[in-house]
Amino acid sequence: SLSPHRHCYTLFTPASSVPTITTTSLRFPRMDASFQRRKDKVVVIMGATGSGKSRLSLDLASLFFPFSELINSDKMQVYNGLDITTNKIPIHDRKGVPHHLLGDVSPSHGDFTPSDFRLRAGQIISDITSRNNLPIVVGGSNSFVHALLAERFDPELNVFDDGDAEISPELRYECCFLWVDISFNVLRDYLLKRVDDMLDSGMVEELAEFFDRDSPDLELDSATRTGLRKAIGVPEFDRFFKLYPPGCKDSLRTGAYQEAVRAIKDNTCQLAKRQIQKIHRLKAAGWDLRRIDATEAFRVLMTSGRNGGDRWSDVWGRDVLEPSVKIVRRFLME
Ligand code: ATP
Repeated sequence: SLSPHRHCYTLFTPASSVPTITTTSLRFPRMDASFQRRKDKVVVIMGATGSGKSRLSLDLASLFFPFSELINSDKMQVYNGLDITTNKIPIHDRKGVPHHLLGDVSPSHGDFTPSDFRLRAGQIISDITSRNNLPIVVGGSNSFVHALLAERFDPELNVFDDGDAEISPELRYECCFLWVDISFNVLRDYLLKRVDDMLDSGMVEELAEFFDRDSPDLELDSATRTGLRKAIGVPEFDRFFKLYPPGCKDSLRTGAYQEAVRAIKDNTCQLAKRQIQKIHRLKAAGWDLRRIDATEAFRVLMTSGRNGGDRWSDVWGRDVLEPSVKIVRRFLME
């Protein structure tokens, strides 16, 4: 199975060639008086949905363990609930690494906005750095990443939607950006397979429990809904459950079910495309994003058979983890 729920985080043993991170490399700069005057250092892992960001963040956090903490920047994963549908890392795969803003917000909160994220994640970064630890921001919502990091932030302006808005190159923190990128054809194949794995893992049952036949949202499309009800999977299956309420026998064999699955796959691929466009815009605005090419690792994951796990880990270590560690290490030494 390719499901992140089943194996992404358990098979990997860091390759021996991965540079060793000493705690000194993390903590020494903080003891330097001149460092106190500098901006806080933050590692930021970006990339489209399904590109392996969470995996990389956990691998890095394990190498820096126990001196790093993760902050989720996926706008659907901040909410409590729908763990399969929104692809949250299961607790047993979190390797004891602290995760912030992952399922912390009640779905009844309504929209958790980029301004909310700037405020909450900003406080969390201050707390983490006051513990002398390294904050690692990870997630696919570029509007959250932009809101958190931009020196100048206007809550009224969506820099990605408003063609005239300029993205400021000045940042509130000293940032090390890792952008996990995958050739789109390979990513699309992976995303289609991932939706099937999520369905196998219980996504429909999770959505059935979340379905509320009295919700006024049922008539709304995803753009006009709020909070967790926008998550890909919810509007698509609300349409299905209206026709075949949860528990309805044999409903999974219907055309309406196939249609819901097809819509989820389409919308996931569209989301990935939009996320990549936004990353390109940030790069064009002068954000120093370091591109890490995970295409080969995902090709191996998609094509290799039973022994794929080991081979995939090797290629992942060589192409993704090792270059990332080098970049982060240099960043921390600067
Ligand atoms: P936008 O400015 O369009 O809101 P963004 O960068 O803030 O973009 P994205 O992460 O691109 O945020 O999310 C946009 C939409 O994609 C969400 O409203 C939701 O419908 C869907 N989406 C994003 N992440 C997830 C997820 N983890 N699970 C399910 N759906 C998601």
